[in-house]
Amino acid sequence: MQLVDSYNRKHSYLRISVTDRCNLRCFYCLPSNDEEIAWKPKNKLLTFEEMETLSSIFIGLGVDKIRITGGEPLVRNNLPEFLERLGKLKSIGLKTLAMTTNGLLLAKHAESLRKSGLTHLNISIDSLQAERFEKITGRNHLPDVLQGIEAAIECGFPSIKLNVVVIAGVNDDEVLDIIDYARKAQRANSINVRFIEFMPFVGNGWNIEKVIPYTQILKEVESIYKLTPLLAEPSAVAKDFAINGSNTSVSFITSMTESFCNTCNRLRLTADGSIKPCLFDPSEISLRDLLRSGASIDVLKKTILDALKLKPEAHDPAEELAADHKNRSMIQIGG
Ligand code: SAM
Repeated sequence: MQLVDSYNRKHSYLRISVTDRCNLRCFYCLPSNDEEIAWKPKNKLLTFEEMETLSSIFIGLGVDKIRITGGEPLVRNNLPEFLERLGKLKSIGLKTLAMTTNGLLLAKHAESLRKSGLTHLNISIDSLQAERFEKITGRNHLPDVLQGIEAAIECGFPSIKLNVVVIAGVNDDEVLDIIDYARKAQRANSINVRFIEFMPFVGNGWNIEKVIPYTQILKEVESIYKLTPLLAEPSAVAKDFAINGSNTSVSFITSMTESFCNTCNRLRLTADGSIKPCLFDPSEISLRDLLRSGASIDVLKKTILDALKLKPEAHDPAEELAADHKNRSMIQIGG
């Protein structure tokens, strides 16, 4: 059995949200100023044991890359120990274990995460200006995030990426500053700065005017740096460029202006245990209830394949997504 959908796309990449809770309130990630988020009760969230079991099943179906995300993964207790257990799944076919974090608790955990076998770390940072950082994230924690990045660099993670969601009138004047920061911060390890186009989710204030197309950012970067395009894997979502004469590279996630549905190889497992085949489509099937009712591995595999059949060929146009209230917010799906 393999994870091939109705459009012949082979899936080998699973993103697991380990919690829907977060210690930031980024306005683009959760419904507008919603401080009273309806967190799922703890007993509705998958346990680490359940995530491990499901991960093994996905690996048995051909998944070789797992990314841990959230919510904020580091607010879940004992995450490094869980990653260590997941890392052992390399013996059955897992090749890459990655995590995306807002970096707030990273200084405390970087060392144990590095020891756990985690190799690929994405850290989100949308602004280097304290006031603006607070406006975007609802919290004044920029110094903690910077310390977190510093700690990750110090620990020698082989791959460190900085995720920057660029939003018109919010932080689009910081593109060069963030590249400059990465160039100065890096040591032996290389740092990749990823500029992400702003995507629409329920109540996040998206409109097309707020999207800065990647071509515009590329032009700005090229006005200062000589770039060399890097070859990417067929299923890669980023357009990657080396900055000549530097260990820093830049990438563009062009979800809005050049979507990559035709090569999508990703599946998501939400913190409450649903398999979600497309980020922008509300379809999902709960694996948690099946697992808790004692379903066999074969039944779970068949359910995963059934969920894959729900994956659309391509997601709806952005304007329609912005008006859609059926899909969950990013924080609930897991970015
Ligand atoms: N809490 C972690 C963090 O902040 O990195 C992991 C979860 S977060 C949902 C994962 C990534 O999704 C972050 O880099 C965040 O910037 C990105 N993201 C969230 N909402 C987005 C949106 N509307 N458009 C583009 N990227 C978004």
